[in-house]
Amino acid sequence: MVGFEFDAQGWLIRGGRRAPSPHADDRPNNALVDLVVIHNISLPSGCFEGSAVEDLFLGRLDCTSDPTFADLKGLRVSAHFFVRRSGEVLQFVGLYGRAWHAGMSEFQGRAACNDFSLGIELEGTDDLPYAAIQLSRTADLLAAARDCISSLRWIVGHSDIAPGRKTDPGPSFPWPIMLENLKERGCLLTRPST
Ligand SMILES: [Zn+2]
Repeated sequence: MVGFEFDAQGWLIRGGRRAPSPHADDRPNNALVDLVVIHNISLPSGCFEGSAVEDLFLGRLDCTSDPTFADLKGLRVSAHFFVRRSGEVLQFVGLYGRAWHAGMSEFQGRAACNDFSLGIELEGTDDLPYAAIQLSRTADLLAAARDCISSLRWIVGHSDIAPGRKTDPGPSFPWPIMLENLKERGCLLTRPST
């Protein structure tokens, strides 16, 4: 697997595939981007093949193609990155843009976390073990992103900033391994005690 490199606009030029999403806009002026939000997604849940997640983020998912997709109709969401279980990385939104991943959320008294965060979706579920390569690729990705956005400081799960509403990345997400992977790369993000 090759390392990651971004262009001046915050899009990958190495290490992943760009798939620009229409579900994104600008961050507020002077937003201090200091947060990374870890999510999981798989469509249908527990299915780790096909293009449904990419299609959802690109606004082209056929919501009649699976009965569990019915409530996704009209949903406009995205994330900066999607890390598949193979280690493949897709980028939907540039680092400096606002991806629509967190929804109603709050971190350290600040609402609307999309304004000041990067959103990373790992292909998975709350209960199945993640693939080791997903964790190492995510750490590589975050180390490269932090070279572009030096204000990045915190890392949380979606459930940490939208408790009661969201459960991802779930009990199967190995926080100690993720934090160790980041540390090995000199990317010192902190998970605040909640
Ligand atoms: Zn989420």
